[in-house]
Amino acid sequence: MYALDDTHDPALESWVESANRPCNDFPIQNLPFAVFRRAGSAEAPRGAVAIGEQMLDLRVVHELRVLRGSAADALEACTGSTLNAFMAMGAGAWSALRKALSACLRRGSPAASALRAALLDQADAEFVLPAYIGDYTDFYTSIHHATAVGRLFRPDNPLLPNYKWVPVAYHGRASSIRVSEHSFARPMGQILPAGGVEPVVGPSARLDYELEVGIFIGAGNALGTRVPIERAEEHVFGLCLLNDWSARDIQAWEYQPLGPFLAKNFATTISPWIVTLEALAPFRVPWSRPAGDPQPLPYLDAPQVRARGGIDVQLEVALQTQAMRARHDPPHTIARSSFRHAYWTVAHMVTHHAMNGCNLEPGDLLGSGTQSGPAPEEAGSLLELTAGGRQPLVLPDGDRRTFLLDGDRVVLRGWCERDGAVRIGFGKAAATVLPAAR
Ligand code: CA
Repeated sequence: MYALDDTHDPALESWVESANRPCNDFPIQNLPFAVFRRAGSAEAPRGAVAIGEQMLDLRVVHELRVLRGSAADALEACTGSTLNAFMAMGAGAWSALRKALSACLRRGSPAASALRAALLDQADAEFVLPAYIGDYTDFYTSIHHATAVGRLFRPDNPLLPNYKWVPVAYHGRASSIRVSEHSFARPMGQILPAGGVEPVVGPSARLDYELEVGIFIGAGNALGTRVPIERAEEHVFGLCLLNDWSARDIQAWEYQPLGPFLAKNFATTISPWIVTLEALAPFRVPWSRPAGDPQPLPYLDAPQVRARGGIDVQLEVALQTQAMRARHDPPHTIARSSFRHAYWTVAHMVTHHAMNGCNLEPGDLLGSGTQSGPAPEEAGSLLELTAGGRQPLVLPDGDRRTFLLDGDRVVLRGWCERDGAVRIGFGKAAATVLPAAR
């Protein structure tokens, strides 16, 4: 796990003035990575690091030859159209580049005048997926979500007995993952009408979002090898926001016995910026098991996980209907939660995923599962917020929602803040629902 160093110093300020404003997502203590091209251009995508409302074009930084040694080697790996090569280099390279960029971006840095040539506004960028995602696995780490959803699907048996022993997951679909600010068609599917015995085919009428954290694997593990829990985080490059769009009516009919399939593989949205695990070091929190629950099996237990395994990423979901957008009303916040409530940590997910020798690859994506907190208003999906569609959500203009309608835009946000540290943010993961394709 990363120690705090001078890159986390709350007193640090940047010569990029927008980075010093309070409540901005990208102060110099953050330095998250993305891949972009100029909006509307046919340029080859390349890596970027966010600073305030602007960003450094890492290909230009490389051409300016302002970095030396291992930081320069790491920088070169960020000049291509994906970050996979950089992710594969491991924590030493990630830290070296973070340290060098932090030094260059500080107020008073002699590199400032040269680096202005590499700076551009985030508003002028079009983001693409930050990595080639070979595989995507979605976990189910919120016991509050698992219990609430289980109650709707199986009222007499909400939480299955394996939940407290196994970090449960399913293998998702990587090809339909998109970066924030896209739109997608409402899925068609087989749906069993209430009280019916035969399914009908039609557009999902119970389309939902899931408020999740995405976890990008950095260095992988070879097929047939395991990842000890003490070393699990060495394999994690960083975190993003993730929306696992879910069609509840398709899901209810298809999910037994093999789990989610077409209810979830039609679209997944991630935020463009990956916040590194190192940037999250000030926001680590203890992780524990409630007394009376089974303690993790030895391969999933380590003192460092109990001491600092959790991450207090505050999460928020907001909804903007088509009518709100027409009036230029901002998205309305409908729920807040935190990743600190997760029943299983990032380290548990990685170690369990590889316990059978399954090889994780650089750029693989893990989803945390819907992050619902203990209180009902902290629910990370409409399924929970509306009690399975029985209690509509009332928006400020009086409009009501049980599930999403065409034209609805869902915006996920995440940030970390605590006394003694500078607030860092994840930006947003937003997408809009279009009518079903016929
Ligand atoms: Ca999910």
